Amino acid sequence: MWRSPVSAHGWGSWGRRFKSCHPDFFFTFVIMKKLILILIPLLLFNSCSELTNDETNAPNIILITLDGVRWQEVFNGIDLELIENKKFTKNSELLNQMFFDENQKIRQQKLLPFFGNYIDNYGLLIGNNDEESSIKLTNDQLFSYPGYNEILTGFADSSITSNNKIYNKNQTILELLNNNQNYSGQVAAFCSWDVFPYIINDKRSGVPVSAGYSNLEKNKLSKLESFIDVYQKMMPLFRYNVRYDLFTHILSMEHIKNTHPKFVYISYDETDSFSHDGSYDNYISSLHNTDKMIEELWIYLQQDSFYKDNTYMFITTDHGRGDGDFSNSMWTSHGSGVEGCENTWLAVLGPGIKNKEIEKGKYYVNQIAPTIAKLAGISIKDSRAGSPILIN
Ligand SMILES: [Zn+2]
Repeated sequence: MWRSPVSAHGWGSWGRRFKSCHPDFFFTFVIMKKLILILIPLLLFNSCSELTNDETNAPNIILITLDGVRWQEVFNGIDLELIENKKFTKNSELLNQMFFDENQKIRQQKLLPFFGNYIDNYGLLIGNNDEESSIKLTNDQLFSYPGYNEILTGFADSSITSNNKIYNKNQTILELLNNNQNYSGQVAAFCSWDVFPYIINDKRSGVPVSAGYSNLEKNKLSKLESFIDVYQKMMPLFRYNVRYDLFTHILSMEHIKNTHPKFVYISYDETDSFSHDGSYDNYISSLHNTDKMIEELWIYLQQDSFYKDNTYMFITTDHGRGDGDFSNSMWTSHGSGVEGCENTWLAVLGPGIKNKEIEKGKYYVNQIAPTIAKLAGISIKDSRAGSPILIN
């Protein structure tokens, strides 16, 4: 360990030694000593004021979305009709082995152990339509860009009618927080789908967005981030514009561990891609894996003193899907013509969440960003925004 000359010898002996060298040098030394004595309290004061800034206690917030995951699986586990349908499920034996139980609660816990056990015990799970709990989209498009806009801005925008790469004219909660003194420069997004730089409007907002196969600034990558940057495209490509969720997960974890941002948005996408392909096996497998990733992140956050006991986690989806194998409500699909896909779900973890009673009730997706804003000590000014959910 490096030891400073001050602690090694004390000022006294240094002074005596310099005095015996040269008188001018001695006076310079005395002035330096005085300067340092003045500077030390100033430096201490400065670091104290930085500490005070941190101690505004502005909470850390992690927002996670899983694209197009149905409330049906979140609360009931695997769908008993879809696993028997050979058109959608290729290996029903495996899915039965891993996730089947007669009891709905046990099925939920088998498919989503973190949701079904931990979040159900310590957090909030809203959206179980079988139990007088719902959270619905207010946009009438019922597909991704309009859904993400609603989650992230707190209001539906009827002018968003496609998933095209158009820079969002609305400010998301990421941009609002990046403009706030308690969060500025400490906001980042990791997204599997490559449209997110446009939804978040990374150019205007200044929020770094790693999306699709792009990464954050190449010259600042850690060893692990560089590894993923090189090898992520060497996996069999399942969508040219969607990165595997595992890579998105690892990149977000690495960034959180190395830089301790105060607001992170993580967007997983595989579930929607596999559903559109009509693969119930892969949809279920991806959903199960995402539950593990979220658990891994939450366990990490509770071990890191920066995040422990001062971090909220919101988990939700951009739209539901159809209810089964029906022409008007096909599970593989979503959109304005598909019955039931306006129903989504919301999970919340964080300090002081006690009132499980609020799980029962009718909520809307446009309340999510206002709830986050309230926790962060800001408000969303747009008159179209929903009201915050009173989570604690
Ligand atoms: Zn979607």
